Amino acid sequence: MTDDLWPIAPHGGSLVNLLATGAQRDTLVEEAANLPKLTINERELSDLEMLAIGALSPLTGFQTEADYRSILETMHLTDGLAWAIPVVLGVGDEHLHRISAASSIALTGANDAPPLAILRVSERFARDKHEEALSVYRTDDLEHPGVKALYDAGDTCIAGSLEVIALPDHEDFVNYRLTPAETRDAFRQRGWRTVVGFQTRNPIHRAHEYIQKCALEIVDGLLVHPLMGATKADDVPPDVRMRCYEALFSGYYPHDRAMISIFPAAMRYAGPREAIWHAIARKNYGCTHFIVGRDHAGVGSYYGTYDAQKIFEEFEPDELGITPLRFEHSFFCLKCEGMGSPKTCPHEDDDRVILSGTKVREMLRAGDRPPIEFSRPEVADILIAAMRDQAAV
Ligand SMILES: [Zn+2]
Repeated sequence: MTDDLWPIAPHGGSLVNLLATGAQRDTLVEEAANLPKLTINERELSDLEMLAIGALSPLTGFQTEADYRSILETMHLTDGLAWAIPVVLGVGDEHLHRISAASSIALTGANDAPPLAILRVSERFARDKHEEALSVYRTDDLEHPGVKALYDAGDTCIAGSLEVIALPDHEDFVNYRLTPAETRDAFRQRGWRTVVGFQTRNPIHRAHEYIQKCALEIVDGLLVHPLMGATKADDVPPDVRMRCYEALFSGYYPHDRAMISIFPAAMRYAGPREAIWHAIARKNYGCTHFIVGRDHAGVGSYYGTYDAQKIFEEFEPDELGITPLRFEHSFFCLKCEGMGSPKTCPHEDDDRVILSGTKVREMLRAGDRPPIEFSRPEVADILIAAMRDQAAV
């Protein structure tokens, strides 16, 4: 097996890398200086980064109308490959006139910053926001953060392939930003032939630790892969989450079997469709298995509890390649004297240490650690300190 295919082939067969180097990069820099510039926002920068490093293989740029329509209607690209959420660049009318006829556009993260990539424009098309909202998010309610972001984006999509000069600059977590080629390399060095990926945008409490470890019991390695692109304003900030993950790893995880790396995507909150999208991306990072919990990537009550697990049945197993591992909510049971789930524990809710998110936030805000059966004390202390700092602002 070649290094690129270890331990699983990327989606579509080969890992994309759009990042130019050496003389090719110098030429792009020179060319970009004379092209019309388009400043893209945080979410679009995340997509650009994901495309550049091959996390969205086999995509090599922002998608065309034919693929866009095909994804909305069939969850497949026009060539038949499974794909659940369109990756398009929406441009507002206020910018369109400047780049109207350009066949190449320089993309930048801020008005005065040097261009990060050149987009070779192949087509422009009107974004069907209503249809996209209903297909991808199953709602067009503007209270839904993903739908809101969709309607805030521009009305015209500019499609085309990308040639990338530099990745968006990150000052934080530099050591944790492994590309798919790098995670694959790390798995190969460790000899992991099977790896389970865990997506999260939250601190990890005992329940999710348990699920990860259940999965790790049947594979060689665990990739905890926190999403660090844009999330809702009320989600726990990235630096606080990372401190929680580090505390957990230093106290409770086997270092030769588990690693943390960052998933640079922006959160869509698209529930079922995002679960598929997350799984495909993790396959590109080299994961053979992917944990799908209840209400994966959901928000509010827009999705049924098991919708994100059921949607995997709409694909033939070899279409996705990566194996979903479906989990129930888990908890510590006082009668079992251990972690379990409704699948493995026969007792009543009264015997189980179950706390609502609201209750946990209330306790942390008051400076109280949730029970050790719910949250590791090291994690609780980090969250309590973060709440105190936030209150002091
Ligand atoms: Zn029990």
